Amino acid sequence: MLLQLKEIHKEFDGKVAVDKLSLDVERGVIFGIIGPNGAGKTTTIRMVMDITRPDSGEILFDGKPADSGFRDRVGYLPEERGLYKKLTLEEVIVYMAELKGVSPRVIKPKINDWLERVDLIDYRKKKVEELSKGMQQKLQFVTTIIHEPELLILDEIFSGLDPINMEKIKEIILELKRRGTTILFSTHVMEQAEKLCDHICMISRGQKVIDGRLNDVKAQFGKNSIQIEIEGDGGFISSLPGVKGMSEFNNYIELRIDSSTDTNTILKEVANRVLVRRFDIVEPSLYDIFIDTAKIDPNQPAETGENHHV
Ligand code: ATP
Repeated sequence: MLLQLKEIHKEFDGKVAVDKLSLDVERGVIFGIIGPNGAGKTTTIRMVMDITRPDSGEILFDGKPADSGFRDRVGYLPEERGLYKKLTLEEVIVYMAELKGVSPRVIKPKINDWLERVDLIDYRKKKVEELSKGMQQKLQFVTTIIHEPELLILDEIFSGLDPINMEKIKEIILELKRRGTTILFSTHVMEQAEKLCDHICMISRGQKVIDGRLNDVKAQFGKNSIQIEIEGDGGFISSLPGVKGMSEFNNYIELRIDSSTDTNTILKEVANRVLVRRFDIVEPSLYDIFIDTAKIDPNQPAETGENHHV
């Protein structure tokens, strides 16, 4: 186990932010932490990075309490981004690497390749302040990975990136994993978590509500989703017997159904009232699992979901 969190607990002014949370991050995996706003993801990551002290509990890196050498072996992208705006891209990369104890001699030959990878090569000699927010984020990602850390910790890596850049970052993360890097990241972007994670942990109100390999989590939730495309108003579908929830997207509707529900009955009911263009029984998406588990329906207050440990 590369990283172990053992019952870490944190309260702010008597309010529990992280509630005796335990996590095991195996070496070489991509581990995703998901959860609604305020669930405790950032606080958890900050405790791992020793920015926030846990009230109780223990964090082990490579089997030992994290010591001062820990930070040099980790690449950390904080939720609040910030680079020295008056430095050039090249200068900022060298500076950040030096903070990790890596000399400019080692870093400089790698700068072009990485800036090329994230489409920032033309800005190499420009100042950070001349970059857009998304560009600065890509630059900060480069400063996080260029010293080849064993463990990458990325807090909300995808926020503020367009889909093309999300894909770029996703590809780099997968490549780093192939090279043996362990990656722990938090995200709200379920689609990316679904594409990337080997292991998923969902926290809600500081507690773990799902923890397992992505495939196992999905298998546990079973084939209990239906995607339908219809013509007409599908508002009635959410109140059909057996339908637990409905998410309407622009081009289709996704239903979460009880495992005991006969999908044929739903098809008949729907087809009786509107034209059905597509009807697929699918594995639940992580998005559905998230909504179902956190019950973050905008009309309902958040509540701690049933526990799904696999
Ligand atoms: P988001 O997805 O919105 O970034 P999160 O899962 O990262 O949320 P945290 O930022 O860890 O959530 O916050 C968890 C809880 O701890 C929240 O209730 C928040 O108000 C509280 N909290 C976090 N940091 C502090 C702080 N420095 N002082 C007081 N309360 C805090």
